[in-house]
Amino acid sequence: MQTAIATVCLSGTLDEKLEAIAAAGFKGVEIFETDLIGFSGTPSHVRRMIEDLGLRIVTFQPFRDFEGMPEPQRSRAFSRAERKFDVMQELGCDLLLVCSNVSEQSLGGIDRAAADFHELGERAARRGLRVAYEALAWGRHVNDYRDAWEVVRRAAHPSVGLVLDSFHTLVRNTDLAAMRAIPGDRIFLVQIADAPKLQMDYLSWSRHYRCFPGQGELAVDEFMEALLATGYDGLLSHEIFSDRFRAGSARSVALDGQRSFLFLLDELRQRTGAPVPGIPALPPRAVCRGIEFVEFAMDEEAAGRFETLLQGLGFRKAGLHKTKAVTRWAQGDINIVVNTDKEGFAHSFQIVHGSTVCAIALRVDDAAAAIERAVSLLDRPFSQPVGPGELNIPAVRGLGGSLLYFVDRKSQLGRLWEVDFNAIAVDPREEDAGLTSYDHISQSMHDEEMLTWLLFYTSLLDVTKTRVQDVVDPGGVVQSQVVATEDGALRLVLNASQSHRTLASRFINQAFGAGVQHIALASSDIFRTVARLRAAGVELLPIPDNYYEDLEARTELSPDDIDRLRESRILYDREGTGEYFQAYTASMDNGFFFEIVERRGYAGFGAVNAPIRLAAQARLSARGRAPA
Ligand code: MG
Ligand code: MG
Repeated sequence: MQTAIATVCLSGTLDEKLEAIAAAGFKGVEIFETDLIGFSGTPSHVRRMIEDLGLRIVTFQPFRDFEGMPEPQRSRAFSRAERKFDVMQELGCDLLLVCSNVSEQSLGGIDRAAADFHELGERAARRGLRVAYEALAWGRHVNDYRDAWEVVRRAAHPSVGLVLDSFHTLVRNTDLAAMRAIPGDRIFLVQIADAPKLQMDYLSWSRHYRCFPGQGELAVDEFMEALLATGYDGLLSHEIFSDRFRAGSARSVALDGQRSFLFLLDELRQRTGAPVPGIPALPPRAVCRGIEFVEFAMDEEAAGRFETLLQGLGFRKAGLHKTKAVTRWAQGDINIVVNTDKEGFAHSFQIVHGSTVCAIALRVDDAAAAIERAVSLLDRPFSQPVGPGELNIPAVRGLGGSLLYFVDRKSQLGRLWEVDFNAIAVDPREEDAGLTSYDHISQSMHDEEMLTWLLFYTSLLDVTKTRVQDVVDPGGVVQSQVVATEDGALRLVLNASQSHRTLASRFINQAFGAGVQHIALASSDIFRTVARLRAAGVELLPIPDNYYEDLEARTELSPDDIDRLRESRILYDREGTGEYFQAYTASMDNGFFFEIVERRGYAGFGAVNAPIRLAAQARLSARGRAPA
């Protein structure tokens, strides 16, 4: 199958869109009429531009309100079509996409529509052109691909074919069985879009919330399986109307479009076992077994304060890098690396973003295969020179220009801490704080980046995503979505907000870009951990008494239990029999903080408590304690 993308998916002017589309490696492009009309050059100029970029136009769209019109509108519709044919010939495009009629004046009847299409087919054929009919989910008489197919079938003209669009089909829950029986060569174009499941009218849903497959919740995979059964091997074209894409970078969205197709078709190949023509097999999604380390790039001053905090949190200095100013801090299965070296990636990252997380290292089964998959998915690999005898840890560029490292046990990488670090002996009598592992990592990003990183993680790693959740911050609403492995070995919380006043947005401004805003560490006994933190002088986030009074009203907890929670300023949530306990450190200068959590059979993230935490952080920051 060949892939294409519609100009309507991207931000910018027509020439900027076309350049982004070519740069992302697409060969085909759908020209949306508005993009052409708004462009200052002639259609022949556009044609040359497209040819120079190595692209070809796969369709010109949309032609609206055509079929089933009474006279005199019917004759006018045919004259409009002739004028579109003129433009298409100048553009060098042979396929006109006709959407099902939404006009109140239009008349129903499959035969009437088929007769109109037969005549349109005649007129198109005279010029060597073709027309394709698409059922809009909100079409007045035709809103189901099965009816559109019946119109095309009865039109009985070789120049008239069908357009299938995954969005229009899936939002109406149209049965896919009939699709399998459509002859593949009668399908002239397939348009692909995903979307979140929403309760709203089809038109608004379609115009604002579409997204690439892998970013939404529709059963695009089932649509693709039905399509495969038709024998179709023509064009798959992204047609995405999205407010987020329109606010984003055209280059980045076009690249996401390619990544989405590679992922979608690879999944299809794996699920059906059938080769998908023209699509190479990728290594499987990397199975993540945990987080090997999180690396902070810091200047010396910030590192001093941060390392004091780490000691307060019960971490011990466990190793020093053999050749660089890099320290390993450890507790339980948690490794934190503090990098103050004056050379290399971490240093340049620190100069741009300040003292913050510059890399996350994931434990996978096969690091080389993970990188191979990343490269196949057009992720950007990273490497920098290493000293003699040191390990070259494979990495790709992640969120905000940070790195995602891959470490495995099957190669030398499994001996990372011995090879690259000199161990520091730990006094076994020294008590830690009972922190055992990484629970989750929360990343804040610009709203228009959210879908990019969602697709990045879900296409590369064997993770699933949760539904989007709205969290109320005193400065606006934050959208939150989690990607996680089945067993919780990796949990990443992606946060984005359109408001500039939320803590998430302020963090992004402070750090000059998206990044890790908080890290949650798991405790086996949060009451003990909090007591240890307090004894060590770690400042914790104050939680108002009102919270505990509300807890008394809405939970079955005993007054004693609530007193214990209040005394330790621990937040609580319950899901069925699962219980969740949370505490927070005060934020550092740039808004970064640690969370301490204890899970007792609980799978969520305490969403009910998020507004309480955000309000407490906003209060602390307003007092000038920490400009979060
Ligand atoms: Mg469409
Ligand atoms: Mg959290």
